[in-house]
Amino acid sequence: MVRSPGANILAIFRGYDRELVCSQCRSVIAWIRLRPFSLIAIRDTLGQDVTPLGGTVALGAAEVELSDAKAVGDSASDGDVRAARRRIDYFRREAGEVFYEFTCPNCGTRYDRSLPHLTKDVRHAPAGRVALK
Ligand SMILES: [Zn+2]
Repeated sequence: MVRSPGANILAIFRGYDRELVCSQCRSVIAWIRLRPFSLIAIRDTLGQDVTPLGGTVALGAAEVELSDAKAVGDSASDGDVRAARRRIDYFRREAGEVFYEFTCPNCGTRYDRSLPHLTKDVRHAPAGRVALK
């Protein structure tokens, strides 16, 4: 690895096994550490721990987004309505799980992952970078 002024910043991510990257722009979204028999640990690009949301909270937030997008009611909000419906469907499909929400710091694409889904993505990734889709 090349030494750079950023190396000190990167040191806070030591011990993290995988980078979660945006499938749209390839920017790093977060670092994730998985160990057998221990809790998952996720840190975002600001060095903050990413904490999961309970399913009820995640679903409630998506329902508010849906009603807000419907209230706007113009053609520009159609995409927001569809995105909110997709999120609601996903949270319902994965009912009973906790969820992690990620937003790409570069392009703003949002990703939702249930804990089992995220764990599966990471464990099946062939290399150190895991593209969220
Ligand atoms: Zn992105």
